[in-house]
Amino acid sequence: QKPLYRTFHGHSKLLASDVYSQYQAVRRGEQEIPKYFNFASDVLDKWTEIEKAGKRPSNSAFWWISGKGEEVKWSFEELGFLSRKVANVLTKVCGLQKGDRIIVVLPRIPEWWLVNVACMRAGIVLIPGTTQLSAKDILYRLQASKAKCIITDDTVAPAVDSVASESQFLKNKLIVSKGSREGWLNFSELYKNQSADHSCAKTRIEDSVNIFFTSGTTGSPKMTEHSQGSLGFRPLLSERYWLDLTPSDVIWNIADTGWILTSLTSVFDAWVFGSCIFVHQLPQIESATILNTLCRFPIDTLVGVPTFYRMLVQNDLSSYKFMNLKHCMSGGEPLNPEVMEKWKSQTGLDIHEVYGQTETGIICSVFKGMKIKPGSMGKAAPLFDVQVVDKNANILPPGQQGEIAVRSKPIRPLGLFSEYIDNPKKTAESERGDFYVTGDRGTMDEDGYFWFIGRDDDIIISSGYRIGPFEVESALMEHPAVAEAAVVSSPDPLRGEVVKAFVVLSAAFSSSDREHLACELQEHVKKTTAPYKYPRKVEFVQQMPKTITGKIKRHELRNKEWGRM
Ligand code: ATP
Ligand code: MG
Repeated sequence: QKPLYRTFHGHSKLLASDVYSQYQAVRRGEQEIPKYFNFASDVLDKWTEIEKAGKRPSNSAFWWISGKGEEVKWSFEELGFLSRKVANVLTKVCGLQKGDRIIVVLPRIPEWWLVNVACMRAGIVLIPGTTQLSAKDILYRLQASKAKCIITDDTVAPAVDSVASESQFLKNKLIVSKGSREGWLNFSELYKNQSADHSCAKTRIEDSVNIFFTSGTTGSPKMTEHSQGSLGFRPLLSERYWLDLTPSDVIWNIADTGWILTSLTSVFDAWVFGSCIFVHQLPQIESATILNTLCRFPIDTLVGVPTFYRMLVQNDLSSYKFMNLKHCMSGGEPLNPEVMEKWKSQTGLDIHEVYGQTETGIICSVFKGMKIKPGSMGKAAPLFDVQVVDKNANILPPGQQGEIAVRSKPIRPLGLFSEYIDNPKKTAESERGDFYVTGDRGTMDEDGYFWFIGRDDDIIISSGYRIGPFEVESALMEHPAVAEAAVVSSPDPLRGEVVKAFVVLSAAFSSSDREHLACELQEHVKKTTAPYKYPRKVEFVQQMPKTITGKIKRHELRNKEWGRM
């Protein structure tokens, strides 16, 4: 049998780790991937042993602050102890069994992490959701997923109650709260009184561990299934990984608990390395809170979405001295080179970009130490064969535009989702020849770096030219007046469609003459990109329509232009 991955060289420090060493033979292709795997018993409990033996630096496994003075720190041993109790709540009190599904809608609080580990232990499939979900969103998720249990807090519970009767599958509601609520079991009380004896479920490597709803940037969110192998085992095989941490590192990811980025960064990948996961509850995403936290805590690695860096660079960063920050990463949306430059000039730090989807996890990345080409998403991540393909799934040569795709045949790589649940049609549509196609357009250069052009349906075709919004938006962002830009197609009697830019002005320019500014921006884009790409229409707006994840909803702006709403 062929090995499921290619071999990679470098980063020997990882090989020294006790957790990794047993997988070396698998990595080399000398041994098959194990049949059974459970991230809790095979990784987290291994770190507990290493910690107990005094072989791990005295770094917490989990470190949470509320921002209001409360703090929680757990070692791997404490995490194991508490999560076993929670596993008993789920199995004994709620009667959940291996393979059952649970929806977890919690802010960034320690319980979210306990439930994640408890679900792994019990083999329960966790479906995360952001606390910004409306009652309608929650009902959609309850019905689509057939979840038997939901866990949430006081803020979201009323919305759940308003729709719960419409889901015939839901049996138990658990609330994380200091008080009680009728019809709900109190999570905090229950778990404190449970026994910490729990034996980890024997899960197969292909057993489902998480189901994520996609961001819904282009339509209804899709239920994307990932297995123990895909999220938990895969990082053990990559010598060179996008996070590339050590057991003494402290990593802070700012994304919401509802998205795969948090599960990847702040559950599986960081704990594969035995690193400390830092969490700030961050009820509001505010620049001052984030910057002060970076100054006060020994965070060395920072992960965020581009919106968040765009917000931070609007501040004077020179007055902040970060305690330990060394490595910054951004993903989820394209990052404009201008933002990268501003961050670098003020903090001295580079932003390393990662690219991926709910369906794929991280498939491209600017790894530590790799040459940064601003505007590029970096190179293919290990274990993935990423290519740019045409309509017939032919691989295109470097420099040619096409769709970004991942080879999925003859062997589906670990890391790629299993399927869209209950949606074989969508699953089939995502396959083309030997590839899974992402729906994103891009190019690969001679050095193997990938460049994002735009989502397939965001591409503007004007007078026969194909124009990707990202390049035009980045050009606009270079102008000091522009805080945020979104570029979409707009109808035009002569050209069919033309480029239109929506612009949010930076504070300093908010009272400038709009007409004059529009002309100046057009001239600026003509100078910095090919002139045919300049926005023939410019509209100034107060804010952009965004998904809960913080992504600009270009299709909403486009639909308005075309009178489709
Ligand atoms: P839906 O599939 O429901 O419409 P979505 O595609 O936004 O929503 P996600 O899976 O959260 O849901 O997002 C993945 C998409 O985000 C990618 O397909 C790509 O378009 C975009 N993306 C992620 N990282 C980057 C990046 N570094 N550069 C450019 N685009 C990115
Ligand atoms: Mg998508």
